Amino acid sequence: MGEFDLIRRFFKDQSRPPLDAVPVGIGDDCAVINPTAGMQWLVSSDMLVEGRHFLSTVAPERLGHKALAVNLSDLAACGATPRAFTLALSLPRVDEAFLTGFSRGLFALAQAHGIELVGGDTTAGPLNICITVMGEAPRGQAILRSGACVGDDVYVSGTTLGDARLALEAFRGTVNLPGEDFTLARQAMECPQPRVALGQALRGLAHSAIDVSDGLVGDLGHILKASGLGARLEVDALPRSAVLRRQPMALQRKCGLAGGDDYELVFTAPAAVAAQLAAAAAASGTAITRIGRIEAEPGLRLFDAQGQTLDLGLSSFDHFKS
Ligand code: ADP
Ligand code: MG
Repeated sequence: MGEFDLIRRFFKDQSRPPLDAVPVGIGDDCAVINPTAGMQWLVSSDMLVEGRHFLSTVAPERLGHKALAVNLSDLAACGATPRAFTLALSLPRVDEAFLTGFSRGLFALAQAHGIELVGGDTTAGPLNICITVMGEAPRGQAILRSGACVGDDVYVSGTTLGDARLALEAFRGTVNLPGEDFTLARQAMECPQPRVALGQALRGLAHSAIDVSDGLVGDLGHILKASGLGARLEVDALPRSAVLRRQPMALQRKCGLAGGDDYELVFTAPAAVAAQLAAAAAASGTAITRIGRIEAEPGLRLFDAQGQTLDLGLSSFDHFKS
């Protein structure tokens, strides 16, 4: 199968015909997209490299899902509404079974979020997937890392923070998980659910937000640095799944604080909007948990349930270190 047949069969045929919003999609040198009046574009790219961002054991359908999910998560963090995406693929060979599963997972998530594949590039090479997402938000309303204010509450979404890291440790053989726990943790690692609805509901409520890709401590650190502030974090308030709770406390904390690959939202908001936040979370079907407070003094201070300072010596997952 040639490059053009591959593009047509696995990608173009599953994209929708021209729409008012996207008069030209796959097939020309550029896609043409009509902006919505009063909105700004938000654009982000994420690349997935085999062995670094995913294991060769992942099912192609889950890989297609995850490649788009991690990108949608960036739009969610900024409160954007997804519109379009491009897909740059490097493939070692034309593997029809792989491409069938990959495109199925990719388009299932795309359709769930109403985002159109409008173009891309396809080449031979090591397995490598790069997606660029484009979303929109009303002018001036994108939620940024730099907006945190002293006194803001710090929240995290979801109930499985740390499970993706637990699965990675199980794959590495450093943790032994019983079958059912492994299945659940693996699902968190391979099928993250981008918090797109919550992100949009946070517009006008949250002062700052980020999605957790490299670990809570490191990613909250980006909010603190961009906002020129610090925070206290209630470590024992972090949401933990039943699977993670069955692990030793030290491992629970490590996975929750520094795990990475979670794709939950961490955001800050003033106490005055707490009730509106709870309503927004309920409406978007996503749990949120208050885990700390923004303070003027730079740096992140960790406390346990007794109010004792914790020094866990954690750094976020760093691609150039581990
Ligand atoms: P060009 O050589 O002008 O860059 P290509 O031959 O690479 O164009 O691609 C032909 C068309 O197919 C373009 O519209 C491009 O956006 C689209 N395309 C290529 N690869 C992919 C892909 N993996 N997914 C979606 N669209 C793709
Ligand atoms: Mg090209």
